[in-house]
Amino acid sequence: MTARIIVSGVTRSWQGQQRAAVNVAYVAAIIAAGAIPLIASPLIGDTRVGDVLDGADGLLLTGGEDVDPALYRQTPSPLLGATDRARDLFEIALFSEAHRRGIPVLAICRGIQVVNVALGGTLWQDLASERPGPVEHATAGARDARTHAVRVQHGTRVAEAVGTTQLAVNSFHHQAIRDLAPGLVAAAWAPDGLVEAVESAEKEPWLLGIQWHPEEMHADATAPDRGLFAALVREAVSARGRSTADSLR
Ligand code: MN
Repeated sequence: MTARIIVSGVTRSWQGQQRAAVNVAYVAAIIAAGAIPLIASPLIGDTRVGDVLDGADGLLLTGGEDVDPALYRQTPSPLLGATDRARDLFEIALFSEAHRRGIPVLAICRGIQVVNVALGGTLWQDLASERPGPVEHATAGARDARTHAVRVQHGTRVAEAVGTTQLAVNSFHHQAIRDLAPGLVAAAWAPDGLVEAVESAEKEPWLLGIQWHPEEMHADATAPDRGLFAALVREAVSARGRSTADSLR
């Protein structure tokens, strides 16, 4: 069975036209892991996420804009970046419904932030000014450049997926988790203590959040980060098996 993974899309202006899009790296990483990516546009709207998820085996939440701080009851910082309210509401509803249905979720960069907000946590709106430290999280070089270390908690699903407790990661994020939401546990940290990965506190439903960009490593067959996509697809296949078994009862 081939898993079908919903990939959250974006709206972008390109050559004077509005486009429904997503970075190729996310799509390529899902294909490399043996699944079929299906891009879901935020234009679908937050009331129709159930229709998006019908027949889907997994969900990948992708990177992008800052999350609107009103969604975690804070006033906007002057240093807040661009936001997209429609995308925020679509992805929060999409995640919440997927989580409720027990559909496995991998949430990357903005995705880990959306998940944290959806479950009641808060974010650093502008990491550099609000939490200055020795680690540069908003680098501007090559997207696959591994610029800071991450320590992964032994025994977590993140550690199992990447196959190590020490790795170097790429880093280009403006925001990050401030207060961790109930229901989430931190699974990896940068050397400055910033949370770089989370997972669900309970075994089910399966949920991993990653602050760095593992999708940018998809071309390297030996990259430990590829294990995150392999884990999502494995969980998606097994969740489909369970729901099929339920429907046959
Ligand atoms: Mn980082």
